[in-house]
Amino acid sequence: MGVSVGIDLGTTFSAVAYINPKTKHPEIIPNGEGSRITPSVIQFLDGEMIFGSEAEEAMAAGEPDCVATFKREMGNDDPYCYIDGVPYTSEQLSGFLLRHLKEEAEAALGDTIKDAVITVPAYFYSREREATINAAKAAGLKVKKIIDEPNAAAMAYGLEHWRENARILVYDLGGGTFDITLVVMGKDGQLSTVATRGNHKLGGRDWDARIEDILLERFEADTGLDLHEDSEAYAIVRGLSEGVKKQLSAMSTMRVAASFPGFGKSTVPISRQEFESGTSDLLEQTGALCQAVLDEAGLSTKDVTDVLLVGGSTRMPQVPAYLQKMFGKRPIAHVNPDEAVALGAAIQSSKETETYTSLSVQVIDGKKKTDMGSVGLGVRTAVKPAKKLSGVGVMTLRETTAHAMGVVAINDEGDRYYNEIIIPANHPRPVRAAKRFRFYTHPRSDNELDLYVLQGDSENPVDCQIPHKYVVSGIRHVKRGEIAGTVIRVQYSYDANGVIHIQARQEDDTKDLPVRQEPVPESTYRFGRPVASGEVTDGVGFLQAGERRDVVHKYKAVNFSNAEWIRFDRITYHPSGAEFNEPSVHVVANDEKIEFHGYNVSAMDEGVTYTIDGNDDFDIECEINTSTIQPHPGGHLYISLGIISANLTQDGGSIFLDGACVKTVGPRFTLRMSLTDGGKYEVYVNDVLAGSKTVSAADSIDVVFGFTHESHCCSILSHAYISDIKMLQSSGGSDEDESSETDTWDD
Ligand code: ADP
Ligand code: MG
Repeated sequence: MGVSVGIDLGTTFSAVAYINPKTKHPEIIPNGEGSRITPSVIQFLDGEMIFGSEAEEAMAAGEPDCVATFKREMGNDDPYCYIDGVPYTSEQLSGFLLRHLKEEAEAALGDTIKDAVITVPAYFYSREREATINAAKAAGLKVKKIIDEPNAAAMAYGLEHWRENARILVYDLGGGTFDITLVVMGKDGQLSTVATRGNHKLGGRDWDARIEDILLERFEADTGLDLHEDSEAYAIVRGLSEGVKKQLSAMSTMRVAASFPGFGKSTVPISRQEFESGTSDLLEQTGALCQAVLDEAGLSTKDVTDVLLVGGSTRMPQVPAYLQKMFGKRPIAHVNPDEAVALGAAIQSSKETETYTSLSVQVIDGKKKTDMGSVGLGVRTAVKPAKKLSGVGVMTLRETTAHAMGVVAINDEGDRYYNEIIIPANHPRPVRAAKRFRFYTHPRSDNELDLYVLQGDSENPVDCQIPHKYVVSGIRHVKRGEIAGTVIRVQYSYDANGVIHIQARQEDDTKDLPVRQEPVPESTYRFGRPVASGEVTDGVGFLQAGERRDVVHKYKAVNFSNAEWIRFDRITYHPSGAEFNEPSVHVVANDEKIEFHGYNVSAMDEGVTYTIDGNDDFDIECEINTSTIQPHPGGHLYISLGIISANLTQDGGSIFLDGACVKTVGPRFTLRMSLTDGGKYEVYVNDVLAGSKTVSAADSIDVVFGFTHESHCCSILSHAYISDIKMLQSSGGSDEDESSETDTWDD
């Protein structure tokens, strides 16, 4: 039949638990040695792997090929270690450990494991969660769900001590990670996370390192040896530090003895007081994160009902002392900090998965935030007396996202990239949100779309995590009038495990487009720099010259690098077959200028066009110079700003509105078109109003700069240019439609 288990896959210790079918209570499953927790250490020995305390002892004795704390590099695809020249990633090592834990638990239970809930630090990013799932799969485990360690601990605690409306701050300081999470106990076993922060590179190991520094200094003073240069002696001191730290949790002073090769025995003193003052900055780092969580939830330290201690490092006496000072009450240590997480995971293993919630955000000071009212924190209700829940069956867990999810966007001025948040941090998960935007397809391109999803709150994309580069393919070419454009809907989701999923659909299709993951390119540093087109096209990386394929929302200032200008088709042959008639006109468009130059031109249409959506608020300004066009009948520079058009030769020409000439110009002049508030387009020639027209909001307007030649006779075009082109589009006309955020789809 198989058993569902909960697994705490810790940096330093791991534990497995299940719901005992007789007692209906969560229980730890002891490992093969009868221990309730297993050190997360592996030793590679003679082609085999040894796990747990045996491997830990081997490592402490300085034996080779021992690996530990690999969880710290979860999600990193670079090798964590090389054993006999073979590289192993953190994910692979975690897979080996999980297989071992599974086998030992199966032996203890005398049954197979059907599926497992595995815990991760709340602060794990999508990539780290994905790596955990992959490790479990490699270990032959079916993952029922990934839950956050503090939430699991809160469940184990809540089972025995439920107090409706209590706001519990779970302070989880383990061996390698720190998580701080605020949970609310709702009605009858409904546990909800409100806010969470953490630092997954901060834990007991950092306190060990400080002990190591103190001891190295003392031993060096006592022996006169340079221990920093002596790897064997250094390893001896390092091997002592964790044990010394643990002993200092129980005694205030102690003497540490060690034997060094070439010197003999040395004994040095160390006191808890020295240790505490040498590590106070580490505790303060945790305190700052506590404060950040309270700020996010809009609470003060007084509003916290209780602080729950989880993780082996909370056994250091300075931890509860520090928290008591901060919160004015003694933290609770009712749970076994080593076991609570696995027990909570076991409770969750008896649950079915929940359904998606819709996005619930509010904008505070211009920043998108989770609507706290919707997560049950709006009102501060009185805490009811503690009670024992009737059983694990009544408990439900609602988790939140530790990291906001956003996409790389360009600001209104068009000069800077920023993180446009789609799903704010601390939003209940699973959740999905969709956005739609226009994508300009091309008949001869593969029409793929790169998506840069971000995890993090920072405005600056460079300070955020990019889980993967997602590439949407299979977009069909859609031609709309003169311009090829289509609507792509992208759905961003956090699943119940906190893993990101990206889906895309074209127009109103009901089928998803293929989306593949690619490694994040090295060159994403450019998102931290001003938007500069020259830089983008000179081979920095993944932006193809002349092609915009990134999902960069909110095109505002339009220029030639962030709007798709469509080139007219060029004639590639001449009907006469004469070689000299091969057309060689070039249209060069960059941010400042469109240039036409060439010779021996016949029957051609060449130029660029841009379509302004009828709803867009738009201004365009340019200077035109036709003086170098060689006079030849039939050939002319053609300009159209939607409501007006002009055929221009070397001497200039006439400007028409609805077929009527409204202005004659010389070879050099300026043109400006803007949309008035009343929905009327006005055209100014050399700053004098030449004509105006009201167009319906539904009508789009084409801006065309081209060279045309209708007859078959030759024309010689030497040079014409349009310069100082400024096109400004106001925020009302962004290419993305905010209102569509709720337009999500299932599966
Ligand atoms: P993780 O979840 O990261 O595996 P644990 O919650 O199991 O970590 O905590 C392990 C950490 O707790 C280690 O750094 C260990 O040194 C520390 N630790 C365990 N017992 C004590 C103690 N009595 N005093 C101080 N630190 C302790
Ligand atoms: Mg832990």
